[in-house]
Amino acid sequence: MKLLVLLLVLFFALWLWRRGRSGASKPKSQQPPSAPQIPQMVQCLHCQVHLPLEEAVQGALGSYCSAAHCSAAGDRLPSP
Ligand SMILES: [Zn+2]
Repeated sequence: MKLLVLLLVLFFALWLWRRGRSGASKPKSQQPPSAPQIPQMVQCLHCQVHLPLEEAVQGALGSYCSAAHCSAAGDRLPSP
C-alpha cells in the first residue's frame, strides 16, 4: 500500500512536470511590446516638418527634410 501511494505521488509529480514543460514550450505569439519602435523625430529648420532622424539631412545648424531646404535656409550641407 505504501508503494502504491509513492507511485501515485511520483506519477502526479511527473504529470505536473510534463504539464509545466508543455506550457513553457508554447510559442509566445502575444509578446508584450516592451520597446515600441518609435523612430526619433526631428524638425526641419526651414519648413518645420517632422521627419525621422535617419531620413533627415544634417546641416551645420540643424536637421532638414531635404538638401534643398538645407541650402534654402542658408546652411551648408555636410561634406560627403
Ligand atoms: Zn523642410
